[in-house]
Amino acid sequence: MIDLLARDAASGYGITALLETEKIPYRPVTSIGDATAPLIVAAYDLAPDEIAALASRRTLVFHGGTRFARDVLGAADASNVERAATLPLGAPDAPVPPAAPRRESATAAESRADAAGTSGGAPWSPRTLALARTLGKTTLRLPPVALCATSSLAEATVLATFADGMPAIAVRGNCLWSAADLGGAFTALVTERATTAHHGPDARAPLRAAARRLAEHAYYAAPEAVRRRVQRRWYAALERRLAALGTAASEYPIDPTGWLLAELVISLARELGGGLARVARWPAPYAAAATLTHDIEPQRFAYTRGLAALLDAVTTSGHPATFGLVARASARWLDTATVARLGRHGVLCHGLAHRGENVFGRDEVRRDVETARRDLERRLARPVRGYRSPRLDRSPDLLSALDEAGFAYDSSYPDVDRENIAHFGSGVRVNVPYRPPLATDGGGMRPSRCLELPLTAPDCIQPLLAGATVETLRADVASKAAFVRATGGLYVALVHGGVFDRDDEQRRTAHLEFVAGELRRPDVWLASADEIADWWCCREALHVTDDGKNVRLVNRGKRTIDAVRVVVERNGAERTVDLPPLAPGASFTITAGEPNDDVRAESAASAAPRRVVPAA
Ligand SMILES: [Zn+2]
Repeated sequence: MIDLLARDAASGYGITALLETEKIPYRPVTSIGDATAPLIVAAYDLAPDEIAALASRRTLVFHGGTRFARDVLGAADASNVERAATLPLGAPDAPVPPAAPRRESATAAESRADAAGTSGGAPWSPRTLALARTLGKTTLRLPPVALCATSSLAEATVLATFADGMPAIAVRGNCLWSAADLGGAFTALVTERATTAHHGPDARAPLRAAARRLAEHAYYAAPEAVRRRVQRRWYAALERRLAALGTAASEYPIDPTGWLLAELVISLARELGGGLARVARWPAPYAAAATLTHDIEPQRFAYTRGLAALLDAVTTSGHPATFGLVARASARWLDTATVARLGRHGVLCHGLAHRGENVFGRDEVRRDVETARRDLERRLARPVRGYRSPRLDRSPDLLSALDEAGFAYDSSYPDVDRENIAHFGSGVRVNVPYRPPLATDGGGMRPSRCLELPLTAPDCIQPLLAGATVETLRADVASKAAFVRATGGLYVALVHGGVFDRDDEQRRTAHLEFVAGELRRPDVWLASADEIADWWCCREALHVTDDGKNVRLVNRGKRTIDAVRVVVERNGAERTVDLPPLAPGASFTITAGEPNDDVRAESAASAAPRRVVPAA
């Protein structure tokens, strides 16, 4: 068990989100005196009495403030700055140790670093370093965050330095320290802060939206040659914007920032606790998850022949599909036979008209998304629980509207944005579900009730429209799918139905076959967007505690959850335990030492692939 003292809103939201993503057991505390377990401290302003109280504890401090750096770590010149920072993943040609779970105390980390006389790979796990190498990724690029900047630490062992030589991770006795606020870094990622400085919310948004509505009408009505010319000009302008963003831009097609940030925090929590218990992200036996979504753009062809052909292609492919439908286009063009065929598949709401609707103005946006959902539910005669914003337009007002309107999930935030005009070069850089932070009245942050399933780049055949070849696009999809699988992530693919004509439809169908093929792997859970969201919500409702000997799980949700896999790392060994189905209120305890007979029997019984119990 870890105690968590988080004093700053962005920092607390981020560190909690990271621990929740892995279901690492933790307990929030409001003062250092309340803490009885290894303690994570996220604060920029530790007071002298708090610093004194930390001296005798096992602690992981994020930032901690300049006084902490001076008094505990011996920093001569500590200052509090806010900026982006680059953390190299270790010496480029250092040998990669074999991938094996290990247990290290902070002291062990310190002596290892001392013995090696270098920071080596610490604090990264060998597994992370090996995978990063195969991906060609050599750094963690932190978005603008609070940093405790200092040139040297007289009283601590530096385990890792930033690219500019500044100490990044250090250890002194029982205390691990990160100069950067890594919780705040996660918050900065999902709020796309690295790029918002370049284009913030625009006061002229309503005017601009009206102009775009007109432009979008004209675009969809134009002949192909004109559309192509418009697209080329768009993409040329967008490439110039990307160049202006420089290193603040996300990396296409794979941005490893979210993955590396989570790995760093997990690795530090493991060092702190001398081991770790967590719940696997996906139902056993799957290591990763994927879902295929198909937005149907507001054109007569798309809702008639295009959709019919897409339904045929989905039947042939056999994947669990989720269709994104625009409310007004559905009311106008969907026929009864198509509604019946859609009944077997997942559906999400893809906006009211998809004609330049505005995402600014909380009340207006809420009215639009509620009207869209109501009209679509009426046309389909079934509930609609998910949302995808037209053109992936997004804003804090949209997040609030989706939360208030009671959507179960959204999928409007791409990991790497190379599509949206206002957010080109941005993206959340995260490939797992998360709950977006919403501002509270008291200046705090709370997780949204609407789960985000971040959309995975590349976005459909957009790269072809921007001038890429089919071969390049396929290579990017293949490498992205391999990345998501290797990192236990979620791949949310978007392949549109044919929008304009037969040619367009055939090009997209060929792309669909390729993408589905890349995602169809034995270790990937291929499911509808609703199933993914349901699983994640059921998993969130598991309450996990760890007293250092026993790991106990209680299902605090309203539904039975099946195929839960728990991973316990202790004393250099990693144990995986597959749980029996847990009914609401039921609990399960994994005892220390060797698995007892019951547990062994359950593990064996659940070795065969199983599906999640469907929602009640
Ligand atoms: Zn669309």
